[in-house]
Amino acid sequence: MRILIAEDSGPSRLLLERILADWGYQVVSCKDGACAWQELQKENAPRLAILDWMMPGYSGLEICRMLRQKSPEAYTYILLLTSKSQKEDLVEGMEAGADDYLTKPFDQHELRARLRAGIRILNLQAELLAAREEIRQQAMRDSLTGLWNRRSILEVLTRELVRGFRERTPVAALMMDLDHFKQINDTYGHLAGDAVLQEASRRLLNSVRTYDGVGRYGGEEFLIVLPGCDETSILHRAEAMRLAICESPVVAGDVTIPVTASFGAAVCPVNCQLESLALIALADEALYEAKRNGRNRVSFRGFSPAYSLPTGTSPTYSGATDVALSPANEPD
Ligand SMILES: [Mg+2]
Repeated sequence: MRILIAEDSGPSRLLLERILADWGYQVVSCKDGACAWQELQKENAPRLAILDWMMPGYSGLEICRMLRQKSPEAYTYILLLTSKSQKEDLVEGMEAGADDYLTKPFDQHELRARLRAGIRILNLQAELLAAREEIRQQAMRDSLTGLWNRRSILEVLTRELVRGFRERTPVAALMMDLDHFKQINDTYGHLAGDAVLQEASRRLLNSVRTYDGVGRYGGEEFLIVLPGCDETSILHRAEAMRLAICESPVVAGDVTIPVTASFGAAVCPVNCQLESLALIALADEALYEAKRNGRNRVSFRGFSPAYSLPTGTSPTYSGATDVALSPANEPD
């Protein structure tokens, strides 16, 4: 645990440094408020600060106010060092955002107790943030496969389309559907079906680049967002994914299940403003074609200007439920 000390009085600062080091803390030491403020701005700033009230540069009180105004995600616990004569100003100190105070000359046991209280609060706060992040992740992920869920992958696509238009790069969307999935469920049971979905997701993730987005769009249908891919490269990449999916049968318990998938590819070309759902509709048409032509293959549907938005409008996401489902969405 790193602790910041800001204290202009040499003897008092040295004493603090020595005590904290003895207790096993890493100490970042400052002689004035300007140095303390600078340290607290850093990315991995100490989360606990012992600030002298009266010091040059900024006072401990001013640093409290500035820090609380910024309200960063990670909380900084502030212990204010005060002289006896400032006792009546303590309310002001707490209102400025200090968490606790210690009167100089301080008692070592008291300092230790106050630090413990501060660290406990910081730990609670870290747990709270971790729990919130966990909930956020759960809300964005598909629980079975761990991929982006439908809402998240649509957001990824929308974001990439906006970026692609701004940076003049194409954006490709791939719709993938596991072939005869209903039959897999009917023959081997739903647990085996789940295992197939999980293994197919793993194979998909292994065959994309780190900056591609892979999401479960629904049932056994997956949406893959590939920034920067034009028609040639998307066909190449989709073929690699198709081979990865059918490379070997999926082992689920004591059964091995052969798995293939059909792919529909579409590209939003450079300088085109295409809505995410329009691109998905194109990929969906291509997927339907791949199914119609015998499955376990990749089809491509070229962009037609009919899908473009009026000039001047920017591609915006207008709700997933509006997309017209083609027969390719049927569970087969
Ligand atoms: Mg001072």
